[in-house]
This record gives sequence, structure tokens and C-alpha cells, in this order.
Amino acid sequence: MAQLDFTLSAGPTVASARTLAALGAPITYHYDPDFLALFRRTQQKVATLFETTNDVVLMQGEAIVGLEGAARSLVRPGMHVLNLVQGVFGKGMGYWLTDFGAVLHEIEVPYDEAVSPESVEQYLDAHPEIELLTVVASETPSGTVSDMSRIGPICRSRGVLTLVDTVSGVGGMEFRTDEWGLDVCVAGAQKCLGGPPGVAMVTVSQAAWDAIEKNERAPRASYLSLLDWKEKWLIGGVFPYTPSVSDMHGLEACVDAMLEEGVDAAIERHRKSALVTRAGVRGLGMEIWPARDEIAAYCVTSVRLPDSIDHLELRKYVRERYGVMLSSGQGAGNLIRIAHMGPTASGLYPVVGIAALGRALVDLGHPVDIGAGVEAALATISSQS
Ligand SMILES: *Cc1c(COP(=O)(O)O)cnc(C)c1O
Repeated sequence: MAQLDFTLSAGPTVASARTLAALGAPITYHYDPDFLALFRRTQQKVATLFETTNDVVLMQGEAIVGLEGAARSLVRPGMHVLNLVQGVFGKGMGYWLTDFGAVLHEIEVPYDEAVSPESVEQYLDAHPEIELLTVVASETPSGTVSDMSRIGPICRSRGVLTLVDTVSGVGGMEFRTDEWGLDVCVAGAQKCLGGPPGVAMVTVSQAAWDAIEKNERAPRASYLSLLDWKEKWLIGGVFPYTPSVSDMHGLEACVDAMLEEGVDAAIERHRKSALVTRAGVRGLGMEIWPARDEIAAYCVTSVRLPDSIDHLELRKYVRERYGVMLSSGQGAGNLIRIAHMGPTASGLYPVVGIAALGRALVDLGHPVDIGAGVEAALATISSQS
């Protein structure tokens, strides 16, 4: 087995030396004044990253803890909820919503497509009983995005609350929480920020807090409780449970790096890497998975595979033979993903992904033009200013 040289997976991804060093900071008591100051500062920095003045709740655990906590907090039995499904995470949200007692409405499209804002508008107008919309801003397993700049305002103007999974969205695509009127947004650190997989960043609007406070079923005295974080920590200054001290150091470091770079510059870096990777894929003679370039993510490029090649076997082969870790389809389809998120959305990383993918396909008996793929990727880098 080759040693692991390049992690080009779709999260967790590579962390910078600065983030790794921060993760190694001394572990302190969580009520140490230095840690309290770090925690509060980091909340503020995360708000800047999300472009919001809403409350920020930093939950300890993978982003899923934030998503489940938010969904449980918002959903009352019998509440009508519209869930947009264009991939695996959207589909999974629907199962939760049903489980929590919602009356589930869904607009579902094939996993290489995106739900159109027009269809959301029409559906909400035809169903004024809907109180909450759930959507995935960046469907990482399929490498597609939703147009939040339009879906947000459509919901806000109709008084419909929004719960947005932007785990791989923040930092890798335009994401304007307040301008787009988004109520509850959940992100993780291990995607475009290149941080540790262990914290969930959740933003909560006043309208969302009002709905949660009125919801008798919202978790209280629970690891999943947003209300505990609000009442105990945001208001009372007491943690509901001990935060992951090391992860918080790592989170501050990766958020600092992105704010210093500038969020718009970071997004542009992800966009450029996506263009390089897409050109490389097409140069190989392959197709990207998303049906249209306009809905393709900036943080990951998913590549459609022929039936003769299995995505899991291909991922395993590339890792074992060439020491490059890619991501598989994760339920979205027979596809392989080259991620360019966090530190790997830079320079020649995408070219490494194209070269390793191309040679692996040839090794496994599927002819592709490796030279043309690599050259197309390099030519795209060369043409970028
Ligand atoms: C990574 C990710 C999550 C978190 O899920 P895990 O399965 O724990 O990685 C949630 N939603 C999206 C869109 C993600 O990309």
C-alpha cells in the first residue's frame, strides 16, 4: 500500500500547519478566563464568516449534531415542512422530519440536478400551511449547490422559516445569511475551512428562537438542545456541558485564516480550483456528475463513472496504488469525487487528483487521455490571473 501523500477527499480534508498547531494548544479548564475569551471571540468570528448579526451557537460534535438539534428544535408534531431534495443529505433530512412528527412536503429532483427557486415559489404559494423549509446549500455527495440567494428571500417574504445545511457551503461559495434572510444555518469546520471534524456552527435568527421557544417539543436538558445553549450560555454564561477545548482552538485558527485571507478571496480560490478540475475531467474524456455547470459546487468536483467501474473499488485503488485519497459517491450514485476544499483548493492539488484518477482508470481497463486531462487542468491554471 502506498503511503498517504494527498488527501483530496470531501471532508474531513487537510488542515493547515497553523490549525494543527492550534489543535495542540494546552488543554485548559473550560472556565479558564482565556478559554472563555477564546470561545466568545470565536462566536463573533463565526458570525462574521456567516455574514450575520444573528446568535451563533457552537455545538460540540460533528455538524450532524447541529443539524439534528436544529431540526428537533424547530419541528412540532403536525407542522407542515417543505424539504428540498437533490441529494443524500436532503433526503436524510426528510426522514428526520417525519420522525419528529412533521407533515412532510418534498420537492425532489434527480441527484445530478438542483431544485429550481421557481418550483419552491409555486409550491409555497399553493401550500400556505407550510411554516418551515429545509434545504442543503451544498450537496457534497453529488457536488451540486442550491440557489440560496433566491430561495432565502422567497421564504422570508412568505414568513416561512429556513433551516439550511451549509456544512460544505460556508467559505466555499457565496453565503449571505442576513442578506438572504436565512434563519438557522449549520456548518462544520472540516470542509471548506480545513478545520477539525468536531464542532458544529449554528446561526439562529430571532424568528427562529421565537418558534423554538414556543415549541414544547424542542429538546431541553439534552445534548441536542439549542435552547440550553441560549439560556445557559448565551444568556447565563454557563456552559451546558464541557466544550471540546482542543477543537475550539482549531476552529478559531481556521476561521482566523479565512478571515485574514478574506471570505471572498477564499471563495474565489475554491471557484478557480473547481474550474481547473472540471477542465481536467473533460480533458480525460470524462463527464462531471452535475447536469449543468451552473449548479456544480466550487468545493468538490464529482465525476460520472461508467458502469464498468465501481466507485468504491476505484477510490480504494487510487489510495492503495497512488497514495491519493478521493471520495466516493456516498449514496448519490456511481461517481468519484475530487475535492478542492480548504487548503487543497489551491495550486496543483487538482492536477494531482486528475493525474491519479486518470492513471487509475487506465490501470483498471478504462481508457482515458491522461495527458489531455493534465494539460487541460494546467492550461486552466495558466490562464487564471
Ligand atoms: C459533511 C456534511 C455533513 C456532515 O455529515 P457527516 O456525514 O457527518 O460528514 C452534513 N451535510 C453536508 C451537506 C455535508 O457535506
